[in-house]
Amino acid sequence: MVICSPVVPTPRADTELLKSVECPERRMGTPRETRSEQAEVVVDRLEAEYPDSTISLRYSNRVELLIAVVLSAQCTDERVNSVTADLFEKYDGPEEYAATDQEELAEDLNSVTYYNNKAQYIREACQLIVDEHDGDVPDTMSELTELPGVGRKTANVVLQHGHDIVEGIVVDTHVQRIARRLGLTEENRPEKIEADLMEIVRDEHWQALTHLLIDHGRATCTARNPDCSDCVLAEVCPSEKGNSDIDLASGEPWS
Ligand code: SF4
Repeated sequence: MVICSPVVPTPRADTELLKSVECPERRMGTPRETRSEQAEVVVDRLEAEYPDSTISLRYSNRVELLIAVVLSAQCTDERVNSVTADLFEKYDGPEEYAATDQEELAEDLNSVTYYNNKAQYIREACQLIVDEHDGDVPDTMSELTELPGVGRKTANVVLQHGHDIVEGIVVDTHVQRIARRLGLTEENRPEKIEADLMEIVRDEHWQALTHLLIDHGRATCTARNPDCSDCVLAEVCPSEKGNSDIDLASGEPWS
């Protein structure tokens, strides 16, 4: 492998152009000059690769969406969908979740991670929805994040898919990892990554970006051993294994 520079290039903020890397052999793995341009090419290429990209949780109303998203924390969507297939048959509406016993709901959820805590969150959130929101899931970030078990990420998903309100970018573990690999952010915490992405991604792409990065994270840019040799972003990705020794997601050498 030819090492052209000891530093892996990442796109700079829009006002600061990337200094050119003088190396004729370095064709792959070179990001666009600014982070906005980098974000645009990422969205374009992933939209072409995953034209049907969308949320993979199953639900038929806002309460079910909220419950599915709460259950999906540190759990696969596939597992959540298999549990909610029965759950959504058994319970109908926030009143029934709020009224059920903690032990019974926990038992219904026992193949999901942290099922005891999640059962409690669901019961308490549904009680608040009944008591303070006339049985409907609220439609503001502040009201949603007052519900037990609901942070900014969950609230963003519910706003986008339950209310058609896009006021942020959902940052899950795939978005966190791949945004760093692509040089779109150098932040570690989801809230800061979201703020960086909101500055450089056009707002009409905020919702799609999450699902595109999740699809890419499942198909190609996996946490361990991503398949850079078969990646539509390889040409612009500063972590691309053929050119970079460093995984920018971790800052560590590729293993
Ligand atoms: S698979 Fe490799 S080239 Fe593609 S985005 Fe991930 S790290 Fe970059």
